[in-house]
Amino acid sequence: MPDLIKVAKFGGTSMADLTAMKRCASIVSSDPDKKVIVVSATSGTTNLLTELCTEESVETRVEIVSQIKEKHLAICKQFGNPKTLLDEVTALLSELEAIASRKQIMTKMLRDEILSFGERLSSRIFSEVLKVDSGDDIQWLDARTVIKTDNHYGSAEPDIDEIGKASSEILQPLLKDARVVTQGFIGSDSKGTTTTLGRGGSDYSAALFAEAVDADVLEIWTDVTAIYTTDPRIAPDARPITEISFDEAAELSVFGAKVLHPATVVPAIRKNIRVYVGSSIHPEKPGTWIVRDTKEKPVIRAISLRRRQTLVKVHSLDMLHRYGFLAKLFQVLGDHKISVDLVTTSEVSVALTLDSDINNPGQPMLGEEVLEELQKFSEVEIIKDLSLVALVGNNLNQTAGLSGPIFGSLLDVNIHLICHGASSYNLCFLVAEEDAENVVQVLHKQFIK
Ligand code: ASP
Ligand code: MG
Repeated sequence: MPDLIKVAKFGGTSMADLTAMKRCASIVSSDPDKKVIVVSATSGTTNLLTELCTEESVETRVEIVSQIKEKHLAICKQFGNPKTLLDEVTALLSELEAIASRKQIMTKMLRDEILSFGERLSSRIFSEVLKVDSGDDIQWLDARTVIKTDNHYGSAEPDIDEIGKASSEILQPLLKDARVVTQGFIGSDSKGTTTTLGRGGSDYSAALFAEAVDADVLEIWTDVTAIYTTDPRIAPDARPITEISFDEAAELSVFGAKVLHPATVVPAIRKNIRVYVGSSIHPEKPGTWIVRDTKEKPVIRAISLRRRQTLVKVHSLDMLHRYGFLAKLFQVLGDHKISVDLVTTSEVSVALTLDSDINNPGQPMLGEEVLEELQKFSEVEIIKDLSLVALVGNNLNQTAGLSGPIFGSLLDVNIHLICHGASSYNLCFLVAEEDAENVVQVLHKQFIK
């Protein structure tokens, strides 16, 4: 039987320090099938780099670089400072320092270049750690040569065809005799300029690599042991899920479960690649398998909570018995690349929920400019501080008698919007931020056995 190909991704907490890196190295070493290893930046580094990008003062920027420097040099030192590694890491840090010391306008393009240093540093170090631990031939690969994207800096879209081509030219030949260590999160556009896939994007990168090498399994090693029926910090009776479908996992990650980047399952679905989520701290504990078809298909498998939601109500009397209003509204949102999550409409109004701003967490995506454009043809009301509760499972839109018990158990709660029917995998609604945890606890107790 030919070898299996597994792509293993290790997140920031799995790269936190030398001890964590060694743990990950032994997970890889013990399994010859783990051929492509995708790593995040060491924990906290992307946050520091993000801070650096918003900092005006060159002095403070250089101070942030020295924090990053200290952290990475400490890992190298503990590892015994092998000369080649130290030279590479020092060169990267000097390059970063040079960029941070320059007085220049912080464009989105430059921001992505700066953010890329986190993964470039961690992957260099991890590749040496793995080399020593496994005794195997380990090749370091610059992910930017394979993960080709558009130039939407900050949240670039991958170009699947180009990635496939680059993978067969550059990555696949390396896999014949070696394992490859590469970076999550980063890519490059057609001109070769660095791009990023958005915060938490390393999972997505790993899935793109898995698709490109036609992997049998994609493993996501993180700091939780599995995907849970709900956040255990909210409901202590939450329990790990053994097996979940791609569709359910996609809904869960979109609706707030922090375990996976929402786009991760998209390549996995395209190529039917099984995904395993497990803990790099406790690799012996059973994790969660995400597969196309699950043995069990409960109506409600899990409950997720997505905080900091904004409800936008757009009201227009012109809409009465007219057409084109929705098209106009979504044209404006589309032009501004605003992603709408839920929508409900009535004859004269539309209510929709929005993503919070990726660069400004907690702030609604709706900037002044968009608001002004919408106000040209409608009245706009914005309600903040809401949370989205999603029940995720199977055939939710075809199960009779479901909404009665659900909403019956929430009689004291003001529900702002309900979406039910469009998807068979979820039923979701908006409540005030302060009610949200209680709602999750009540529903979990009642519906998840
Ligand atoms: N390092 C990036 C971040 O912190 C990407 C990732 O870890 O997935 O967002
Ligand atoms: Mg992550």
